[in-house]
Amino acid sequence: MSATVSVIIPVYNEEAGLAALFERLYPALDALGRRYEVVFVDDGSRDRSAALLREQFERRPEVTRVVLLARNAGQHMAILAAFAHSRGDYVITLDADLQNPPEEIAKLVAAMDQGADYVGTIRARRHDVYWRKAASRLMNRVRERTTQIRITDQGCMLRGYHRSIVDAINRCVEVSTYVPALGYTFARHPVEIEVTHAERAAGESKYSIYRLIRLNFDLMTGFSVVPLQFVTMVGMLVALLSLAFVVVLAVRRLVVGPEVKGVFTLFGLAFFFIGVLLVSLGVVGEYVGRIYEQVRQRPRYTIGAVLEERGIQMSEAGARDPLSPLFKPHPELDHTEMLRAEHEVGGPK
Ligand code: UDP
Ligand code: MG
Repeated sequence: MSATVSVIIPVYNEEAGLAALFERLYPALDALGRRYEVVFVDDGSRDRSAALLREQFERRPEVTRVVLLARNAGQHMAILAAFAHSRGDYVITLDADLQNPPEEIAKLVAAMDQGADYVGTIRARRHDVYWRKAASRLMNRVRERTTQIRITDQGCMLRGYHRSIVDAINRCVEVSTYVPALGYTFARHPVEIEVTHAERAAGESKYSIYRLIRLNFDLMTGFSVVPLQFVTMVGMLVALLSLAFVVVLAVRRLVVGPEVKGVFTLFGLAFFFIGVLLVSLGVVGEYVGRIYEQVRQRPRYTIGAVLEERGIQMSEAGARDPLSPLFKPHPELDHTEMLRAEHEVGGPK
């Protein structure tokens, strides 16, 4: 039997585009000619997204599963929630806004059939605003230099992960992470393929500049301590330079005598280094903050409900994973739309 496919789609306030997504996604998956499931995660949307997902679940219950998060947990946490509820041998992540064409899924499946356990993608012609593309280029370069992760186009979320990688990811308990990079660290045969990219079909990007910066910090701090080493090296350099400066000043004091010139230059320099100091403190703080979040061990996301049909057992794959809450039908509840109020460690608020 050919490998089964799980398609994972995080949804956050996407009511405007969901209908178009369903219309293209399901035919593309039916055309694959293999068993599949779509796992939608509603990431605490405030619009009608959850209701639309429920309707879609009712239309195609045999291949649809909907995980409803109680609150917004962020795209990457939403994907992790879906990973825990996926059963396919191949797990493919996709954005809900149709920027990643669902028709491309076939290419990823083909690559995995040929033995790749991690399929990265490169957006052939990226359709995003100019500053996003420029920022991505910069961050790609910084990440290449500072981490072991070799991904050409880190921003593209259309990616394929083999079950073995998803199982490994499911065992991770990181509170802030970047799923494509995390998956890459477990990959044995990663490949990259080119895919097309489109403009957002409807609605607006959910990422403000602030959220993008946070996400990139997650990526940097989660996979590298080079920023800390960089701070140390800048510190050493500054210390050496100031030492030399003090020596020069002392010599001048002896040779030229007392002089007041250059006081303001000194102010400028001092303020500059106060800036450097604050940035360094911030870098250290980024790590400390994440350590703090991690040690508190609060639930990473809270699941409000899971819509799934009894017997949507498409493969036993998920059963191998101790963290994956495999569907266990409750004896009193019958068939479809079983609302499994499943609570992550802390339970819902
Ligand atoms: N998303 C999410 N939770 C969030 C932010 C985004 O689940 O907190 C989803 C969103 O619905 C979309 C995907 O993540 O399916 C990518 O988001 P978006 O298209 O806004 O990002 P961009 O393409 O601008 O990078
Ligand atoms: Mg998008």
